[in-house]
Amino acid sequence: AGIRAMQALFPNVPQVAVFDTAYHQTLPERAYRYALPERCYSDWGVRRYGFHGTSHYFMAHEAARLLDKTPATTSIISAHLGNGCSITAIQNGLSVDTSMGLTPLEGLVMGTRSGDVDPGLFDYLASRGMSASDVHEMLNKESGLQGLSGQTNDMRTLCELADHGHEPSQLAIDVFCFRLARYIGAMTASLTKLDALVFTGGIGENSARIRQDTARHLRLLGIELDPDLNEHHGRWSDGRISSPDSRYPALVIPTNEELVIAREAARLAAAGTEHFEE
Ligand code: AMP
Repeated sequence: AGIRAMQALFPNVPQVAVFDTAYHQTLPERAYRYALPERCYSDWGVRRYGFHGTSHYFMAHEAARLLDKTPATTSIISAHLGNGCSITAIQNGLSVDTSMGLTPLEGLVMGTRSGDVDPGLFDYLASRGMSASDVHEMLNKESGLQGLSGQTNDMRTLCELADHGHEPSQLAIDVFCFRLARYIGAMTASLTKLDALVFTGGIGENSARIRQDTARHLRLLGIELDPDLNEHHGRWSDGRISSPDSRYPALVIPTNEELVIAREAARLAAAGTEHFEE
């Protein structure tokens, strides 16, 4: 609808659509296939597509720059933590595993989305009288931080509530950080080396507390944050928030999806107008 409306208003302006799934086209089949009957994949395209690709792509390039390397030789775990949250394993610049799936509901705990749940939940809730659309609504709009805290999907407010002794808000933070740490561990299975763990998104860029609470679960991986650098969101240290003893560097990188979209549009436009003359 957006494309048609713009075509009507500006018939001669080329339009570029940059898909958030595109960066994840390099996932190997073992990472994008679900353990479902083959026909689900071949007849209906049921597979893991991944999202936030524009942001994870930016992380791959920006981390390489900060580490004084090239994207093609840089491997990172990129955690995009905003209202939506996803984590991607990037091996030598390419996405090789990611937490969002067929839809952006899978994976981490998010503002109002549940992330992973037991698929057995669906028929259990049906037995309690919930329809498919009720369940969809609940998992997408009433779950995650909002559902656990019963108060808000806003991490800043949750941290304040938790500091004032509101236990459900503290629980929401605990579940969020624990799930994130589990996924960071899981992503190491897709990498043969790790140059940095990278945080981005509204929460990833601004919440020293969430990064620290998550890193507490990662001692076995040898990730240790420097409290001072973390508190300043890496702004005075080229993004670095890890201590010198950390086995792997941890970085904070403000994402810039708009810049990636603008560059992709410019690249297509520079390639000539023939693409646009259908
Ligand atoms: P985004 O979708 O990337 O804009 O991120 C939105 C999320 O970032 C919301 O949950 C905000 O509460 C959270 N956020 C922004 N600033 C902070 C902060 N200083 N501390 C904790 N969470 C923050």
